[in-house]
Amino acid sequence: MKELICIVCPKGCHLHVDEANDYKVTGNGCPRGAEYGRIELTHPTRVVTSTVRCAGGRYPRCPVKTDQPVPKEQIFEVMRALDQMELTAPVQVGQVVLSDVCRTGANVVATRSI
Ligand code: SF4
Repeated sequence: MKELICIVCPKGCHLHVDEANDYKVTGNGCPRGAEYGRIELTHPTRVVTSTVRCAGGRYPRCPVKTDQPVPKEQIFEVMRALDQMELTAPVQVGQVVLSDVCRTGANVVATRSI
């Protein structure tokens, strides 16, 4: 039995995940917690948020995030890809600035217009 804090919402439910019983989750206040607990123990993922260089705009960097969680073991690979990028203004909020980053299936989108 593993204990986790659910990070899906600010309530922070204390989850118990039973690895010996098909990753059955208890302590969750809603179904999202059950899904989080199961995925966290079988294949943990995270949404990556960062900034990338942006030329020609008011600010030198543009905030970005992945549009879906990526495998935790690929986070540093994704961060290296973002570090090698440079956007050119104008950039619109929600614009895809990098598709299928590191073959994760996730796109990187701008979270601010520059
Ligand atoms: S289990 Fe549901 S209510 Fe509890 S922290 Fe997670 S998302 Fe929020």
